Amino acid sequence: MKTLGVLGGMSWESTALYYRLVNQGVAARLGGLHSAKLLLHSVDFEAVAALQRAGDWRGAARLLAQAAAGLKAAGAEGLVIATNTMHKVAAVVEAEGGLPLLHIADATGEALRAAGVRRAALLGTRFTVDDPSIVRDRLERRHGLALVLPAEEDRALMHRVIFDELCRGVVSDASRAAVVALIARQRDAGAEAVILGCTEIALLIDAACSPLPVFDTTALHAAAAVRWMLDDTHEGATLPPPTEETPA
Ligand code: GLU
Repeated sequence: MKTLGVLGGMSWESTALYYRLVNQGVAARLGGLHSAKLLLHSVDFEAVAALQRAGDWRGAARLLAQAAAGLKAAGAEGLVIATNTMHKVAAVVEAEGGLPLLHIADATGEALRAAGVRRAALLGTRFTVDDPSIVRDRLERRHGLALVLPAEEDRALMHRVIFDELCRGVVSDASRAAVVALIARQRDAGAEAVILGCTEIALLIDAACSPLPVFDTTALHAAAAVRWMLDDTHEGATLPPPTEETPA
C-alpha cells in the first residue's frame, strides 16, 4: 500500500468524510484490520477562505505547496487536495510540492464517462462554478462532458449554504429543500446527472433526495485515492495533458 498525503481542513467537515471513506475503502479491499496509510495536513480554513475572498490565489498556492512539501518529507507518495475549489492552485501545488496529484476532476470525469453521462449539472462554490480553470475545463476538455451551470441566484444560494452552513457543520432541512429544488431546475435545463462539486454537499444531498443521479466528488475522489494506493491506477494519467492555467 502506498502512503497518501491529504491536504485537508477545507473544511474539516469534508476532510472527516475523506478520512472515513479512504479507510473504509482500504478495509473493504484488504479485509482484516487493514486501514489506510495516510498523512493529513489540515489547515486553518479561516486563513484559506480569507485568501480566496481576497483573490490571493498565489498566497493560497504558496500555503498549500508548503504543506504538500511537508507531507512529502514525512513520507507521502501521492497527494489529494480535499476540496474542489482549491484545485484552482492544483498545478502549482503539484509542481512545487513535489508529489503526484490525484485530481478531483479526473476522479469525477472518469465516473461520469463510465456511467454514460454526457450532460451534467455542476454545483459548488461560486469560485468553482464561475471559474473554468478549477474543474470545468478539465471536465469538458479531458472528459468530454457538457456542463449545465446554475443560474446566478442559484450559484449564490449554493455558495451561501456551503460557507455559512455546511463548512460550519450546519445541515438544515430548509436548505436541503432549496438545493433539491435547485437540482430539479438543472434537470429541467437538460442535465442528466448532478455533480456535487464541493466536498461538503454530500452532508446535505444524497441519491435518495436528489431529483438527478448524484456524482459526489468527495466519494469519487476518495475511491480514486484508494485505487491509487492499492493498484497504482491514476485517473487521467492516460488522457491528454491538462491545459491548466497558473493562478493569476
Ligand atoms: N470544500 C469545498 C469545495 O470542495 C469548499 C471549501 C473551499 O473553498 O475549499 O470546493
